[in-house]
Amino acid sequence: MLGAGVDDRMMQSAKIFCPYCGKPLERRESDGRSRLYCGAEARFIYENPIPAATAIVTGEDGRMLLILRSREPGRGCWALPGGFIEMGESPAEAARRELEEECGVRASDPSLVDIIFQDSRYYGTSLLLIGYSFASYAGTPRPGDDAADLAFFDPAHLPDLAFEAHGRMIERFLERREELRRLWTEEV
Ligand SMILES: [Zn+2]
Repeated sequence: MLGAGVDDRMMQSAKIFCPYCGKPLERRESDGRSRLYCGAEARFIYENPIPAATAIVTGEDGRMLLILRSREPGRGCWALPGGFIEMGESPAEAARRELEEECGVRASDPSLVDIIFQDSRYYGTSLLLIGYSFASYAGTPRPGDDAADLAFFDPAHLPDLAFEAHGRMIERFLERREELRRLWTEEV
């Protein structure tokens, strides 16, 4: 997790021009926050966190599916399958799509695990990570898209993860595992 100053600088360099009129933006204090401001239009430009979805799939032995990332951020580190939610797509659909793209499996019966907030230096913004666990999947996992490899891991012996937020999501899943399993059973 990074200090606010680092992220402020990232955001300043990432977004310099007004998305509405194209004039240069500045930063102004309002309500105790440093916000982007368009002097030409005399208005603040509000920035919002970007939502991403992530998928937790476990085998019958309880081991958890992780991918080895082939791209930045987190290249060469393990992570949960997932990515940004696209327009017109629900968070659960996004988690399912990313899982299929990265691992080649079709998952079903999603349960919301948690929503985790993270400041991302790489993207220069805040992220909302929305995590789903899937009760079942079809197909043989094989790496695709931005996964160089994949493997099932014992949750008690996970490798180093690319993102701290994924570690927190896995902790939440393990805490809620029995409760989530009951939910799936009731839905069937
Ligand atoms: Zn403007």
